[in-house]
Amino acid sequence: MVTVLYPGTFDPITNGHTDIIVRATKLFKRVIVAIAANPGKSPVFSLEQRVRLAQTILGDLTQVEVVQFSELLSKFARSMEAKVIIRGLRAVSDFDYEFQLAGMNRRLAPELETVFLTPAEQYTFLSSSVVREVAALGGDVSAFVHPVVKTALSERFSKNI
Ligand code: ADP
Repeated sequence: MVTVLYPGTFDPITNGHTDIIVRATKLFKRVIVAIAANPGKSPVFSLEQRVRLAQTILGDLTQVEVVQFSELLSKFARSMEAKVIIRGLRAVSDFDYEFQLAGMNRRLAPELETVFLTPAEQYTFLSSSVVREVAALGGDVSAFVHPVVKTALSERFSKNI
């Protein structure tokens, strides 16, 4: 059984991420959504919150497990015995960074393959950072995130007012 990892910051998880996860479950039996601590990105939500939101949203998908990690991705993938890393590609703008990352991971762990999936068209413009910006300025994010994430964003940004 091939175990695949879908790593990311998920700050917060969006419908674009979920779209990629559902696509991955159609290709692989076990999909591990691996949420990176990623302090370098100064996430708006704590690691625990990001994990809890993803667990709530993905709870019905029996093939999916949500975990957190803070070590190097290639090391973590080895420890989980994952052979494949899933990443999402929205547009050409993602390509440079994702290509570099895939190349570096291949140098560090040659047995690991990176597989890119593209989301449904309506999610190609969607990113966690845009969702955070819209929510912070009081915009409606209902079309982009699960209702529990919408509530979490409202609570998080009401503290700024
Ligand atoms: P990271 O900090 O690792 O980029 P993200 O949570 O922003 O973490 O993204 C994780 C992965 O999901 C990346 O491969 C990113 O390109 C992909 N992704 C993010 N948003 C979308 C989306 N709307 N559609 C498809 N893939 C996406």
